[in-house]
Amino acid sequence: MNDFIPVSTPELQGGNEEAYALDCIRTGWISSAGAYVKKFEQAWAEYCSMAEGVAVSSGTAALHVAIKCLPLEPGAEIILPSFTIISCATAILDAGAKPVLVDCAGDTWTMDTAAIAAKITPRTRAIMVVHIYGHPVDMDPVHALAEKHGLYVIEDAAEAHGAEYRGRRCGGLADISIFSFYANKIITTGEGGMLLTDNPEFAQRARALRNLCFRPDRRFLHTEIGHVYRMTNIQAAIGLAQTERIETFVAKKREIARIYGALLGDVAGLQLPVEKDWAKNVYWMYAVVLANDPGLDADAVSREMRVHKCDTRAFFLGLHEQPVFHDMGLFNGEAYPVTERISRKGLYLPSGVQMTEAQQGAVCEALREALG
Ligand SMILES: *Cc1c(COP(=O)(O)O)cnc(C)c1O
Repeated sequence: MNDFIPVSTPELQGGNEEAYALDCIRTGWISSAGAYVKKFEQAWAEYCSMAEGVAVSSGTAALHVAIKCLPLEPGAEIILPSFTIISCATAILDAGAKPVLVDCAGDTWTMDTAAIAAKITPRTRAIMVVHIYGHPVDMDPVHALAEKHGLYVIEDAAEAHGAEYRGRRCGGLADISIFSFYANKIITTGEGGMLLTDNPEFAQRARALRNLCFRPDRRFLHTEIGHVYRMTNIQAAIGLAQTERIETFVAKKREIARIYGALLGDVAGLQLPVEKDWAKNVYWMYAVVLANDPGLDADAVSREMRVHKCDTRAFFLGLHEQPVFHDMGLFNGEAYPVTERISRKGLYLPSGVQMTEAQQGAVCEALREALG
């Protein structure tokens, strides 16, 4: 019998993770004041061709800080996709702004950039893009709208470490970008995140916001509310070692996708991930969407695959379908058909970098069986 195949497991062996983390423990530098934090920030910012990196405690914290960096007056609106994690909307709400949704495209599952213009109002201040499951958003139309209307662009690259848009790395395509380094992301620090920017004022503000807004001139004097969103030196040490190996991880993710593509290409009605000719997809998770047939339900397929010892995960449920937002008077009566369909028909398959080809074969067999 084969063992249970998880959706993903972090790869922490074989690089400098142990040595760097041990260095923190041996030298006693375990808080955010240690030198690995700066090193990791510089290495990751450089990888994404951004000037500054600000490491924080999670991707969600990075989103919150990113929105709080922007000069937003009450009533400011920020446009984001309906198909994404709740953190994107809560960051906007927590910063006192209003989230405005657009649906996603049916092939890449990323923001439908043709739907943005209709949502721009005199109160719009920014567009937040989210690269879904490793595939970049089509950024040229986003930048054109941002320029035309004087909007900031925020990039959530939490699922797209190493992905490229027209030859440029994701995370380097906006005024502020954010990453998550949660354990299932392409590189990990266990928990963690980072904000990148070319704007020194945003970077300075982000550093203050992650650390209670202590003032450099007088430490216990506060003129603004900050947070405790610091990353520890041990986390950063692991992140630096993971950064050194990013190309190996990306190559493995792409290889996993190639193999799944070959094994599942003939399954009728099963939609597989795409890679647009302007994109380098890093296939953070290998996601599939079932045919729009009332008899096919992603939850049922997922349960059936679990019987065959294969773990899977459901897609996001649209932000406009979240009861917590309805209770706040948000998104009531709004409809985003693509988001609604894929949230019910989509699931992602085991995609960890430690997967073997034999395991991928077992996953595909289980999927075929579950599809009947
Ligand atoms: C994982 C993820 C986040 C949040 O990251 P955390 O580190 O878990 O807070 C934000 N956005 C997207 C698109 C994600 O996938």
